Amino acid sequence: MDARGWDVLDVLFVSGDAYVDHPSFGVALLARLLEAEGYRVGIIAQPDHRDSASLQVMGRPRLFAAVSSGAMDSMVNHYTAAKKIRRDDAYTPGGKAGARPNRAVIAYTAAVKGAFKGLSVLIGGIEASLRRLAHYDYWDDAVRRSVLVDSKADLLLYGMAETALLEVARRAAAGEALREMTDIRGTAWMAGQVPDDCVSLSSFEAVSGDTAAFGEAFRLAERENNPYAAKPLAQLHGTRAVVVNPPALPLGEAELDRLYALPFQKRPHPSYRAPIPAYEQIRFSITSHRGCFGGCAFCAITHHQGKLIQSRSEGSILDEIDRLTKHPDFRGTITDVGGPTANMYGLACGNESAKIACRRSGCLYPKPCKHLVVKDSRAVRLLKEIRQRRQVKHMFVASGVRYDLLEQQPDYFESLLAHHVGGLLKVAPESTSEQVTRVMRKPGPQAFIDFLEQFRQRSRELGLRQAVVPYLIAGHPGCTVSDMVDVALFMQQHQLRVEQVQQFTPTPGTLATCMYYTGRDPLTGESVHVARTEREKKQQKALLLWQLPESRKLVAEALRACSRENDGRTLLGGDGQRGERGRPRR
Ligand code: SF4
Repeated sequence: MDARGWDVLDVLFVSGDAYVDHPSFGVALLARLLEAEGYRVGIIAQPDHRDSASLQVMGRPRLFAAVSSGAMDSMVNHYTAAKKIRRDDAYTPGGKAGARPNRAVIAYTAAVKGAFKGLSVLIGGIEASLRRLAHYDYWDDAVRRSVLVDSKADLLLYGMAETALLEVARRAAAGEALREMTDIRGTAWMAGQVPDDCVSLSSFEAVSGDTAAFGEAFRLAERENNPYAAKPLAQLHGTRAVVVNPPALPLGEAELDRLYALPFQKRPHPSYRAPIPAYEQIRFSITSHRGCFGGCAFCAITHHQGKLIQSRSEGSILDEIDRLTKHPDFRGTITDVGGPTANMYGLACGNESAKIACRRSGCLYPKPCKHLVVKDSRAVRLLKEIRQRRQVKHMFVASGVRYDLLEQQPDYFESLLAHHVGGLLKVAPESTSEQVTRVMRKPGPQAFIDFLEQFRQRSRELGLRQAVVPYLIAGHPGCTVSDMVDVALFMQQHQLRVEQVQQFTPTPGTLATCMYYTGRDPLTGESVHVARTEREKKQQKALLLWQLPESRKLVAEALRACSRENDGRTLLGGDGQRGERGRPRR
């Protein structure tokens, strides 16, 4: 502040992540955007929320404070799917855990309000975004109130917040109180009663005691995800209502390009001594677009970024690459060019009037929408232009790809295989059981088999030794132990080895979490199996890692649990009954 001649800030950001001046970190991106509009902005990263002095180092801001838990929900960041405390945190120097509090949005908001009496606070980021309505919280095993109520913040920004934040700052600078800003897209606010024009959801009190009411509220809210068609939502909490305005309109190409042209230093704050793992992973990667139209049940991205793809121009991406190649540490490798799903770059809904009226959560399930245009020409051109950069020796696509789109994207597929796989391609079928993929809203096993055949055949023809690493989820709603036996047999039959298994975590706000809590698919009304005991979750995980010696006992147990001992011969060899090699089952 001294160097800039600032005696006061306009906006103070408080974040649960370390400060990395890189556009992949939301707080840094928003701070640079406000700065470009002439606001004086400060960031306090990972303060001690119990110590007011740690929040007062840059003084009281003139307009408001903006609080975020960081790039992850703080409870997901702190606890494993088995609710054990994690020992690391990729968003903290040295990867050390414990630098942010549990329920960081609530804790930081209270701390800011304690440090600066009467200061307005807005909350945003993934934690605030996905907890904006009454939601199931896995760690409490209960429905919690909207985080806007629990934090007592003045305004909540959800989704990608650029447009809303600029509007809030402009109006705050003109003297309007945050609590009076009730008409901004992408925000949630508190009302004295349910406004007339809203879709009224069952109250917090009703949904916290009744799973059917919870599922119905989820279904109604899910219908209002289209920024062009959505109505505001309202949900009573006691006598007051949380009102969620329609989502922000997607950014256009020029607006997105402008963000990525802001003067990021692309490095962590110089005070840090230890590396920040999340930064190390993305420092030489490029975000080409936002959004995902996959609509997978377990994923928070569609809820946060929206299903409409917002792509940067080729020129903007190439400019960023040119700047990146001048970085003193750049050694010629771009580690990723992608977004939530790499091969969605440049894709769009091809029918403007259908898009404006659309109520689907995604564009691919149950069948790809006839209006979806999946032409790969833009993505192919982009990859080619990057390869032609003299300073770029290697360029990988590490973001996930939707393999069910690749059949219609032959040139992208070819380019990916020939140049950008780097030996191992990560793909995420998540399951290969038809019943389970249906609940997950993922493509079924046949699409994965077709992709595998193509991948292997073309890699052979190209003379490249490369393999697929499948990502799978254990314990997803709808998945029984018997389904997982089928998945294990599938992996074995197709000579696939799973290296890492993701145990399903019911993160706030997703469709799968709603199913986990209610035992029903809220969009179809069908009841779904939910693995709730640790024993069953462990059995499902062991089945995916059936080839490991330490899994054998649990695999044998799982086979008995679903009366499929006969499949033990295929999976475990021998008589298939032995829990551990050489030791008979008791
Ligand atoms: S109309 Fe079809 S392609 Fe367009 S947004 Fe809706 S689902 Fe997607």
